[in-house]
Amino acid sequence: MNIDEFCIDTENFLSKIDKEYYLHFAGLKPELNLKIIYDEYPQLFDPETVIFFKGLFNKSEGENRKKAKHLFEFSAEGYMGNRFSHITDSIANKEASSKIEIEGKDVSFRYSDIVLSNEEDPVKRKLIEDKRLKVTSEDFNPDLALYWESLHEETGKFGYKSYTDMFMNVKGFDFHELEKEMDMLVKVTDSLYREHMGRLFQNKLNISLEGSRASDFAFIKRAKEFDIFFKKDRLIPIFKDTMRMMGIDIDNQGNIIMDVDERENKSPRAFCCTVRVPSEIYLVVMPAGGQDDYQAMFHEGGHAEHFANTRENLDIAYRYLGDSAVTEGYAFCLENLAWDRNWLIDVLGMNSEAADDFTYFSSIINLFFLRRYAGKLKYELLLHSEKKVKGKDIIYSDVLTSNLIMKYFPENYLKDVDDSFYCTNYIRAWIFEAQVKEYMLNKFGYRWYKSKKAGDFLKEIWSYGMKYSPEEVLGFLDYKKLDINYLLNNTIKLLKGR
Ligand SMILES: [Zn+2]
Repeated sequence: MNIDEFCIDTENFLSKIDKEYYLHFAGLKPELNLKIIYDEYPQLFDPETVIFFKGLFNKSEGENRKKAKHLFEFSAEGYMGNRFSHITDSIANKEASSKIEIEGKDVSFRYSDIVLSNEEDPVKRKLIEDKRLKVTSEDFNPDLALYWESLHEETGKFGYKSYTDMFMNVKGFDFHELEKEMDMLVKVTDSLYREHMGRLFQNKLNISLEGSRASDFAFIKRAKEFDIFFKKDRLIPIFKDTMRMMGIDIDNQGNIIMDVDERENKSPRAFCCTVRVPSEIYLVVMPAGGQDDYQAMFHEGGHAEHFANTRENLDIAYRYLGDSAVTEGYAFCLENLAWDRNWLIDVLGMNSEAADDFTYFSSIINLFFLRRYAGKLKYELLLHSEKKVKGKDIIYSDVLTSNLIMKYFPENYLKDVDDSFYCTNYIRAWIFEAQVKEYMLNKFGYRWYKSKKAGDFLKEIWSYGMKYSPEEVLGFLDYKKLDINYLLNNTIKLLKGR
């Protein structure tokens, strides 16, 4: 195996994949054709490649081990992703063409999600949710069961007992330890969650949290009442102004291509494509307004700035590959600004009363997500511990309902699952972000987003690309480890006394 050649092929492959995603989801190319690109690089997705990098990782030390780890993770995830891509394609195509009937009209399955979160009548919401569950169970789940069972079976090829064992080895940390920490978070925040989420359900829907449904929450989270503050035409200027205050002028960053045009088939959610790191980064936005839109823009803007500031002389394995918790953490770092009380007043121009309301609302939503991902991790560990998926639907419903109190339905047990334990990346990113943010608050103050020094600090940590893990970056900032207590304490502080 020629590792240098492998790295060059990897860069070209990833570049083509990201360009294809960009063109398709920006509405510039009707069909998404990833298979042609995969077929051009069979050497990247050969089982022998995975075995080679696994061996190299196990026997290397120091810097070589780090690089081998990134290549092992890429080849293992790529192999598993490519192996059953025909099933994934079939599921995606079925989902894209699936329709449900809402009040006499055929509505696409994907769009029905948006209709659901905007529907004020609980009876109608329930009807839409029931129809979505029926389609999921009858049309998607047979393929999804085949998909997951095939992947579970495949791990034996690489000498692993289970899918969990394989990805724990690939990702290099103990999922069960992370599960324990999140269980602790769920336990410690239990009464706070019931009190504040319960109050939110009472105030907004006049129903109790117990006995409510996930679809009721979808409506609450949509939070139309805050739309007046998060105007569509202010989204891009506000983002640019915020970055400029930190000394980052996105209009002068030639390597970030901002695509803000309106096109019929453009994704309504902002996204970022890293076609070449750091020279060709697309930040794609089609402003719609609303708090979700602002948070998505800041999140994707965080990814774009991270990769655009990555040093170009870094090894390919450190510019594109590594622990995704790092880039997700940088994305959350900017996303969380969009519900920071000081920022809401200073930059968005909210009055202090509205800022208090919105920060409080967002803190409850934030706690919801932490508890949801704690549940997802717990469930996915159970789902992936054995080959068959039979009977896991009830476990899914029990675990998620127990953490969130609102009813989660068993039908979603195979759909609400991401590949290769991506849920752990978000959880680690939230913990990482809380510590980086604490460091920045101490160093640059509560209005850090107005400080050029804070911008310089971010540019410095961004410049390492994906080379260092969250633990290593925190080590540079004098933290001993990735420590969940910072995240937990912030979460409690925001809700206590409200
Ligand atoms: Zn992200």
